[in-house]
Amino acid sequence: MNESRPQSMSAFWMPFTNNRDFKANPRLLVSAEGMYYKDVDGNQVLDGTAGLWCVPCGHGQPKIVGAVREMIGQLDFAPTFQMGHPAAFDLAERLMDYTGHKFGHVFYTNSGSEAVDTALKIALAYHKARGEGSRTRLIGRERGYHGVGFGGLSVGGIGPNRKSFGPLLPGVDHLPHTHDLLKNAFSRGEPDFGVELADELERLVTLHDASTIAAVIIEPVSGSTGVLVPPKGYLKRLREICDKHGILLIFDEVITGFGRLTTPFATDYFDVEPDMMTTAKGLTNGVIPMGAVFSRRFIHDAFMEAPAGIELFHGYTYSGHPVACAAALATLEVFKEQQILDHAKAIQPYWEDAVHSLKGLPHVIDLRTIGLVAGIELEPIAGKPGARAYQAFKKAFAEGILIRTTGDIIALSPPLVLEKQHIDELFGKLTGVLNNLD
Ligand code: PMP
Repeated sequence: MNESRPQSMSAFWMPFTNNRDFKANPRLLVSAEGMYYKDVDGNQVLDGTAGLWCVPCGHGQPKIVGAVREMIGQLDFAPTFQMGHPAAFDLAERLMDYTGHKFGHVFYTNSGSEAVDTALKIALAYHKARGEGSRTRLIGRERGYHGVGFGGLSVGGIGPNRKSFGPLLPGVDHLPHTHDLLKNAFSRGEPDFGVELADELERLVTLHDASTIAAVIIEPVSGSTGVLVPPKGYLKRLREICDKHGILLIFDEVITGFGRLTTPFATDYFDVEPDMMTTAKGLTNGVIPMGAVFSRRFIHDAFMEAPAGIELFHGYTYSGHPVACAAALATLEVFKEQQILDHAKAIQPYWEDAVHSLKGLPHVIDLRTIGLVAGIELEPIAGKPGARAYQAFKKAFAEGILIRTTGDIIALSPPLVLEKQHIDELFGKLTGVLNNLD
C-alpha cells in the first residue's frame, strides 16, 4: 500500500477543486477506518462528511469489503444488455424491500449524475409512450444540485456550475429556492415559513399549460448548496399540484437516501411519495460507484404496454455491474444487522443540540439541522464570498476534522455510526476553528 506522497501532482486534473491552491498545499488521505481517515503524515482526521456524503455505515465495513473481494474473484464483469447475472436481480428485490415497496422497479446507473439524467429521460419517454409527447418541459429549482450531466445541470440551479456550458437544455424552468434567513434562521427540522413557495408551480402551469410539462425534480433537502430544509408542508403541496396536473414528481435522493435523515429515504421522513427517486452514494457505502433510479409501477407499465421492441433506449455499459451489486447487497445487510437507522435516530438529538451549541460564535448567522445533517452559515467577508468558509475548511483539516463547505456554508453529514465522543470531538474542534477565523 502506498502511503507516501506522490512524486508529481501535475497530471491529475482534480474535480471541483481549486487546483492551483490545492497543489501548493495538498491534503492527501491514505487510509480510512470507522469514523477516521489517516492523512499522508499519519494524522487522524475525523470524518464529518462521510467522505462526500457517501459512507453512511462508516469506513472499511468488513462485510462490504469482503463481498467486493469475493465478487471480483467470481464475476469481474457481466453485461446487462439482453442478459444478466443473479446479483443484479437480487439487489433489485432487496431495494424494493428497503424502500417499503413504494416502487416497482429500479434502473441501475454508476453515479448520481447518471441517475438524474436517466430519470429525466424516463420521464420524457414515459409521456411519449402514453401518447402525450407534448410533455417535454422539465422543472427544477434554484439552488438545486442534480449533478453535472447536461440534464442535471439544466434543471440544477447553481449559477457558477452552469455559466461556462452554453444554453443547456431548452424548455427548463426553475422554482424558487426556499431558503429564508430572515424568517427561518436557527431552525430545527422543517422551518415554519415558506409553504406557499410551492404554489409557484401553479404559476408555471398557468404560464406553459400542464400539457407541456413532463416532470418536476427536486432534492427533498438540498445538500450541496448548504443544507436547505423544506418548509413545513412544502413537499406535500408540490405533490398535490403535480397530481392535479399529471406531472411526474422526481425526488433526487442522492444525498438524502440511505439514512441521512434517520429514515431509509427522505420520502419516508416527509411521508410524501415521488413517482421516481434517484440515489447513489450510500447505495454501496461509497465503496464502488453506483447509482439508481426507482420508479413506481405505472411508469414501467407504460413501457410494457407500448408496442413491442426495446422499451427504453437507454443504459450504461456498467449498469448493474456485479461488483457494485455485491457491494450494495452487503451494504443493505450491514444496515439491517448493525441497526444503523436505529442508532442514527437515537443519537440525532445529541447531534442537533451540539450543532445548535454553536449559536453565538463569531460569524455564525444560521444553524440548520435535520436528521444527521447540519448547515452552518457564516457571514461572508465583504467582497470575498466563500472565503471565510474556505478558510474554516482548511483550518479544520489542519485540526484533524473533515468538514465540507459550499459558499459560506459549512455542511456536515457524518457517517451514521458516529458516537457521542465523535460529536464532542467534531464540535469541540470546530468551535476552536470558528473562534479563530478572519
Ligand atoms: N444529485 C444530488 C442531490 C447530489 O448531491 C449529487 C452529488 N453530490 C448528485 C446528484 C451527483 O452525483 P454524482 O457526483 O455521483 O454524479
